[in-house]
Amino acid sequence: MSAPLYPNYINGEWVEGPTFDNRNPARWDEVVGRFVNGTPEDVARAADAAQAALPGWAAMTGPARGALLFRVADILEKRFEEISADMTREEGKTLPEARAEVRRSINIFRYFAGEGARLGGIVAPSERDRVHMFAFRKPVGVCGLITPWNFPSAIPAWKLAPALICGNTVVLKPASAAPLSAWRLVEACHEAGIPKGVVNFVAGPGKALGEALVNAPPLRAVSFTGSCGVGAWLHEQASRRRLRIQLEMGGKNPTIVLADASFDLAVENVVNGAFFSTGQKCTATSRAIVEETIYDRFVEALVERTKKLRVGDGMQPGVDIGPCVDEAQMNTVLRYIEIGRRECGEPLCGGRRLAGPDFDCGWFVEPTIFAGVTQDMTIAREEIFGPVLAVMKARDLRHALEIANASEFGLSASLQTSNLSRMFEYIYGIEAGLVTVNLPSAGVEYQLPFGGTKDSSFGPKEQGPAAIEFYSDYKTVYVKY
Ligand code: NDP
Repeated sequence: MSAPLYPNYINGEWVEGPTFDNRNPARWDEVVGRFVNGTPEDVARAADAAQAALPGWAAMTGPARGALLFRVADILEKRFEEISADMTREEGKTLPEARAEVRRSINIFRYFAGEGARLGGIVAPSERDRVHMFAFRKPVGVCGLITPWNFPSAIPAWKLAPALICGNTVVLKPASAAPLSAWRLVEACHEAGIPKGVVNFVAGPGKALGEALVNAPPLRAVSFTGSCGVGAWLHEQASRRRLRIQLEMGGKNPTIVLADASFDLAVENVVNGAFFSTGQKCTATSRAIVEETIYDRFVEALVERTKKLRVGDGMQPGVDIGPCVDEAQMNTVLRYIEIGRRECGEPLCGGRRLAGPDFDCGWFVEPTIFAGVTQDMTIAREEIFGPVLAVMKARDLRHALEIANASEFGLSASLQTSNLSRMFEYIYGIEAGLVTVNLPSAGVEYQLPFGGTKDSSFGPKEQGPAAIEFYSDYKTVYVKY
């Protein structure tokens, strides 16, 4: 039986055409779905449809748009198990991780649905007699949303929901490696009764579709999450047209472990941050910077705990870590492991592609730890985006901060400590947009702004109230009465 066909969605219609396969990274021979290979012309039609739908959608009241987003959340909730399983099959993360992500998407839709009744503005006293003045929010216009494969539902959701609640219309271009989770959101938008043209979905090759999208005349804003190279290219294109732009890109996130930390918790947090979701989180811990007095004991405990992690098909109960998303990503990870071997010797654990009947048909890599890593090494500087951890030694917190900040990236960071003053020294001294204490470096919630500093991000933050800032503009009014 051939795999289901998932068409593109343009102007409220499902559009078929030649397809590409979406495959299961744990069982490469399984085709999860066939997606329509969109063309630049499809993107142009989608942008025109979004432009045509804009006045009607923008004219609806915020609460009315909110009611539709609540309906989207309810539809996702009804299909919770099916959508979660789809995600594990297309991206490889474990089923519990997929469920947590789908839950987050539902919550994101509900959060922004509620914002529909709170899209306030500013009222200020005028210096002039009998003048009433205020500023209210209006949509930006047609928004292009370009999303990656690693959070294939939550990232599209945290762009889509705030864009829609503010009255914008959108063209969504999902990652080719995992388009189904985003497609499920669009399907729910369609079933919820969101008017035609408001949400458009075009899957297909990133370069051709991205170029068509950023050059589509109706476009007013672009929100992108993905690699630094593509982000930089988009920024150039968008700046030429003075589009509003938001970029979320790479990271090389540190977890600093001080001698006063709760030891076992710190081990768990580093293992969780480094290896869960196969290290394929932009907020994953890729450097553990450990105070020298506990260094040896900590590394030993880390290796012991990591060796207990079970790698396998994320659909199977008890599996902690799924495969890399595809062969190319796996080869990138294996290439960095070889670089690590040359730079600092054999890893303390892992370091190989897994082989055997359960693994040969997927892209599985052992969770890998290199110790004694120093700042000059490639594996301490470049993003790997896989289950590879570099452990580094620091004399004290100040030294640890120096190491942590010696990076072009500044997405997330974590500190393990029980000392209040050191905690604040770190909070103010670390160069990162997302800062955690006694938690893994990964694990964000939708109620607060999300994004990094330095080369990790550009433009206004995503999520929470910050998302409303990006997706809306002010109109300022003066009235003499
Ligand atoms: P890419 O930048 O290759 O892809 C991201 C999206 O951009 C995909 O939809 C892709 O389409 C599309 N794309 C590819 N080329 C272009 C182009 N020239 N113009 C416009 N769009 C394009 O990144 P990956 O999907 O490979 O994700 C991995 C990277 O993303 C890592 O570096 C990671 O750090 C970063 N990332 C950052 C996150 C953050 O929040 N900061 C979150 C997740 C990932 P297609 O799939 O068809 O190629």
